[in-house]
Amino acid sequence: MSELAIIGGGVSGLAAGIYAQMSGLESEIFESHTVVGGQCTSWTRKGFHIDNCVHWMTGTSPKKEIYKVWQEVGVITKEEDILRHDYFLQVDIDGVKAHVWRNLDKMKQELLSVAPEDEKEIKKFIKLIKTFQAIELPSMVPNEQMGFCRNMKLVLKMLKAIPAFAKYQKLTLAEYAQRFKSPIIHRIIYNYVPEQFYVISAFYMYAMFTMGNADLPVGGSDSITNRMRDKYLSLGGKISTKKKAINVEINNKKITKIKFTDGSDVQPKYVIFATDPDVTFNVIGRQYLDEHFKFSYEHPDLYPVFSDVNLYFAIDGKIKDLPIMEIFNCEPYQVAGRDHKVIITNNYTDQPNFAPEGKDVMQILMVQYDYEYKYWDDLYNTDREKYKAEKQRIADDILKRLETHYPQYKGKFTLLEVVTPKSFNRFLGSYKGSYMGFIQTPYTKKEVHKGVIEGLDNLYLAGQWLQTPGGLPNALVTGKFAIQRLLKRENMSDKFCSVKKH
Ligand SMILES: Cc1cc2nc3c(=O)[nH]c(=O)nc-3n(C[C@H](O)[C@H](O)[C@H](O)COP(=O)(O)OP(=O)(O)OC[C@H]3O[C@@H](n4cnc5c(N)ncnc54)[C@H](O)[C@@H]3O)c2cc1C
Repeated sequence: MSELAIIGGGVSGLAAGIYAQMSGLESEIFESHTVVGGQCTSWTRKGFHIDNCVHWMTGTSPKKEIYKVWQEVGVITKEEDILRHDYFLQVDIDGVKAHVWRNLDKMKQELLSVAPEDEKEIKKFIKLIKTFQAIELPSMVPNEQMGFCRNMKLVLKMLKAIPAFAKYQKLTLAEYAQRFKSPIIHRIIYNYVPEQFYVISAFYMYAMFTMGNADLPVGGSDSITNRMRDKYLSLGGKISTKKKAINVEINNKKITKIKFTDGSDVQPKYVIFATDPDVTFNVIGRQYLDEHFKFSYEHPDLYPVFSDVNLYFAIDGKIKDLPIMEIFNCEPYQVAGRDHKVIITNNYTDQPNFAPEGKDVMQILMVQYDYEYKYWDDLYNTDREKYKAEKQRIADDILKRLETHYPQYKGKFTLLEVVTPKSFNRFLGSYKGSYMGFIQTPYTKKEVHKGVIEGLDNLYLAGQWLQTPGGLPNALVTGKFAIQRLLKRENMSDKFCSVKKH
């Protein structure tokens, strides 16, 4: 048996595995699903590729620390691995179009031309995006290992953004949007995330995109996961799938045995849980729930989560004239009892092999709030047929609106898949179907979890939930940090090249 058992083979578990092997720790990943990847995954329907995750991957600029980590785990090996679009999204409100352009001057000019009434605020908005390009996600060592010099270096790098951060951190996206009269700018600000997000998230997202630090991996989510998996295996790591951890034995403040639903068990020296924390605490025992998670779970008003209903349509034809990502207004339609007035589309026309020759695939995203999870959960648990029918009803409603907005593709859409918040929960154990961590609102205390649990001396945590608001970069670095914490506590040396070079 390997000395380190990693429970969960998502991006954080794979990262932990890679850094474990690089440090000379023998490890094995135990994943409940049939494949590794977690939320960063994909599958095939009727010959079309269903990409479950990536719309933007932070860390594609060599100027940022996290780039080095993506390199080390084998995701970025060369510039050609990255797909860089000229714009992030197009917004179309009643036929008036605007974009989040890579080129901020171009974006400013376009916004000024569609919303001259907002000139003053548009200029400030563009300036804020530029300012937030200075933000860095600390990726080299965990907080507590940073030391004075590294800390100061980071503060100096981000100095430019600190006053703006302090000024805007108490505003939600919705509150900030009120400064603008134009509905098109409102939608640019919200884009496809919940309106309770603090406004810094929009500045940050666009700052990262415009500076070339948030792009797409060629091959989508699969390319992230497959490259990490291959790197891990090449370093001698082992992966066991269909291994669902169900409980543990604890002796002298150490996890001594992990039991799986198939009746097997392992007895490693060290353990990393890289599962959703809701799963982790169910397995290790809710008595270990620490203040951080306890408080967050008990205060969904302060620590909301969000999810999505995602639809995938095949298109009989190659998309030549549609934006990569678009948000447009439409006749209202209902999802989980709430009216939606926009449709968010995402297509993969420039991803190789996502669709059979001459065809394409399109994704539709619908944000689902914390409270809407209950709707999907109840429906799934009480009436499976009604659950299926509701997915079909939504798809029919969307199809009508797609054909109105894209008349040139009328009759060419075929439904491939409908994913609900319940799907994320069923397949991965995601808390309330959430696909990020807690939403960063103005009221959420920005916390970085210390990655260990009081009273369990050989357990380390990894995963997006440890650092709000989650997402791929946080999953990645927390996997790495788990190993660094283990090495430190066990007085073993840290051999990672990324740490030495920065
Ligand atoms: C629709 C969607 C769109 C997204 N878009 C983006 C994006 O554009 N950019 C971005 O940065 N992020 C995005 N994300 C988020 C990103 O996918 C996640 O942040 C990241 O993949 C989380 O990785 P993780 O390792 O922390 O957790 P997970 O991926 O949840 O991995 C946990 C793993 O543990 C396994 N597991 C659960 N229970 C057990 C058990 N009992 N025993 C063993 N194994 C278990 C699960 O099967 C899973 O493989 C998106 C996610 C979704 C779903």
